[in-house]
Amino acid sequence: MKTYTSHIPPQRTLMGPGPSDVSPRVLNAMARSTVGHLDPDFIGLMDETKELLQYAFKTNNALTMPISAPGSAGMEAAFVNLVEPGDTVIVCINGVFGGRMKENVIRCGAKAVVVEDDWGKQTDLNKLEDALKAHPEAKVVAFVHAETSTGVRNDAAAMCKLAQQYDCLTIVDAVTSLGGIEVAVDDWGIDAIYSGSQKCLSCVPGISPVSFSDRAVEVIQARKTPVQSWFLDMNLIVGYWGQGGKRAYHHTAPVNSIYATHESLVMLHEEGLENAWARHARLHDKLVAGLESLGIEMAVDKAYRLPQLNVVNIPEGVDDAAIRGRLLNEFNLEIGAGLGAFAGKVWRIGLMGSGCTDKNVDFCLGALKTVLN
Ligand SMILES: *Cc1c(COP(=O)(O)O)cnc(C)c1O
Repeated sequence: MKTYTSHIPPQRTLMGPGPSDVSPRVLNAMARSTVGHLDPDFIGLMDETKELLQYAFKTNNALTMPISAPGSAGMEAAFVNLVEPGDTVIVCINGVFGGRMKENVIRCGAKAVVVEDDWGKQTDLNKLEDALKAHPEAKVVAFVHAETSTGVRNDAAAMCKLAQQYDCLTIVDAVTSLGGIEVAVDDWGIDAIYSGSQKCLSCVPGISPVSFSDRAVEVIQARKTPVQSWFLDMNLIVGYWGQGGKRAYHHTAPVNSIYATHESLVMLHEEGLENAWARHARLHDKLVAGLESLGIEMAVDKAYRLPQLNVVNIPEGVDDAAIRGRLLNEFNLEIGAGLGAFAGKVWRIGLMGSGCTDKNVDFCLGALKTVLN
């Protein structure tokens, strides 16, 4: 008979597209004793977690909270709440995650107008404006701030401004951007934004911070049709995560994952947002200099590269899978493979959150040098 024993995972260094290295502080927070999800102690923690998320998102939005599921559920929450059958949504696609936004629009029974740009390039603002002009009926503009499949930063401030000029709401994917580069929900006028716990927040996977503007809340409350997803209906979730001491059961929050989320946000607050962005920028520069000295080229133009997700061209004649396999087996180091149109062509080297350190940059460069020789 087979016997089953505890699982002890290997100790890796995670420098791929996420999850990123989780600090011992966050892992320890997660191991604290579970309390009831309506325990007054937990309600206090929920309130503080919301405040810390407002800080991270740079917003005063009252409806700012973590969804009890990964980033993809945050994406779905934004679409199912704001989009109704028959609506028109302009979706900007320049990588994998923009494509998923389009899928969400279609599944809401709405019409997706696609603004498409090449992988590795920014969304073209002129094309977005043309689409806005051609579709005065459009209700929402949706785009990915930090496209993890390509390492491109889209110009979120300019895209939101354009959307507002044409009276559209905005849905922004900040899964990889939050904590790594500036995200300014109120200054940019974002209506719905979602992120993920396991990228630059360096928390365990499985939590998706979201925030909705007051304007978005009005739109959700004025819907003609019920939100198609019971679990992600913000009208119901606010009864549990909303204002005041009175909280009604909606689902059981993943209590220990919220401990971890809170701890990772406390760490971000201690460091300060601006300092966290500066750290990502500085170590990105160091990594790029080191990669270039190994003859490895960046795949994305310097003007709109993400510091936290470095997409590099795989050098000529190098076996993609063999090198990644050696990094994992000999160095316990994970870097990311290319996705979709970039499969086999690039590597994705993450410098996210707690994993964005001098030590990791040196380790990764040293390991790459060894395996490429
Ligand atoms: C990782 C990621 C997601 C999905 O998050 P999950 O937690 O894997 O569901 C969505 N958008 C972007 C840009 C991402 O990088």
